[in-house]
Amino acid sequence: MPYIAAEQRYEHDIYRRAGRSGLVLPRISLGLWHNFGEDKPREVQKAILFRAFDRGVTHIDLANNYGPPYGAAERTFGEILRHDLAPYRDELIISTKAGYDMWPGPYGDGGSRKYLTASLDQSLRRMGLDYVDVFYSHRRDPDTPLEETMGALASAVRAGKALYVGISSYSPEDTTRAAAILRELGTPLVLHQPRYSMLDRRIEQGEPSLLDVLDAEAVGAVVFSPLEQGVLTDRYLDGIPAGSRAAGGRYLTASAITEERIATVRRLAPIAAERGQSIAQLALAWVLRHDSVTSAIVGASSVAQLDANLDTLDHLELSPTELDSVEKALAG
Ligand code: NDP
Repeated sequence: MPYIAAEQRYEHDIYRRAGRSGLVLPRISLGLWHNFGEDKPREVQKAILFRAFDRGVTHIDLANNYGPPYGAAERTFGEILRHDLAPYRDELIISTKAGYDMWPGPYGDGGSRKYLTASLDQSLRRMGLDYVDVFYSHRRDPDTPLEETMGALASAVRAGKALYVGISSYSPEDTTRAAAILRELGTPLVLHQPRYSMLDRRIEQGEPSLLDVLDAEAVGAVVFSPLEQGVLTDRYLDGIPAGSRAAGGRYLTASAITEERIATVRRLAPIAAERGQSIAQLALAWVLRHDSVTSAIVGASSVAQLDANLDTLDHLELSPTELDSVEKALAG
């Protein structure tokens, strides 16, 4: 029996258009980098996905190597889609990526046409899909001509295996070039997925900054790790709890939970409280303040975390005074 989704799931207008494209995304999207591998209970995974969809989160972000092990998140998502969400396929924007190490040998990593094409075929098989909505080059491969990597993205669209294309973690200069190449190929660059949070502001920096380039090119930013993997929440205020991402220590290690960062988070707490929000909600509203940030992709290890994060959308506006207080809190 498929899942019966909440009838009121589109009651709130939580959507924004990516650049000048036809693609509309929820301001908060759900990413399956963590919590959707073989190491987590299926019931929790289902509950998180169902709640997200019930609250209008139509965009689910994946990559070939999300797990553990690599490929497991796509398999998990594919199974849940097949058994429970199949009637809703056309209400979902499903993205995947290739660019990091995936399989042994010279063709399982990087930005070659060989790797991207084979990886997308594998992703489609794991998820049981005919096409993904968005296919990304996960990172710039300096050893492969940009024309080849962008050509592989455009070919995926022409082959009907992807509807839109994106790039992730490309520099401002490479983004400008990638957009020009894709324009020429007739497959516009629609999304860029950079890392962005109060603790990682690189996309604001440089002349031009990545945000400047995305504005100029009318490309939507879909920002990842907006909570800095959980650091920008109350999760680590009293040490490293068992079961937290930092306790696992793979991509977020205990050494990243420094006294200095926790002191910054503590300075943010009263600003959030004054707004009637949690630290996490303030951190999400803050990344969403730019016009070119179409969506923030959050991770969640429970329905409660997801719900709390989505409640941010009830109060997004930040006053100049609040923004100023945030700057002061971040400066120390
Ligand atoms: P976040 O910064 O949102 O971190 C999510 C983690 O923070 C959760 O797993 C949880 O950790 C904790 N958390 C979330 N909400 C709360 C809350 N309300 N209160 C307390 N703790 C909370 O994002 P991620 O780092 O997970 O990245 C999000 C997505 O972005 C990924 O799933 C992926 O789709 C994408 N991404 C893309 C990359 C790229 O290269 N393009 C790279 C990285 C991510 P805990 O497990 O401790 O409970």
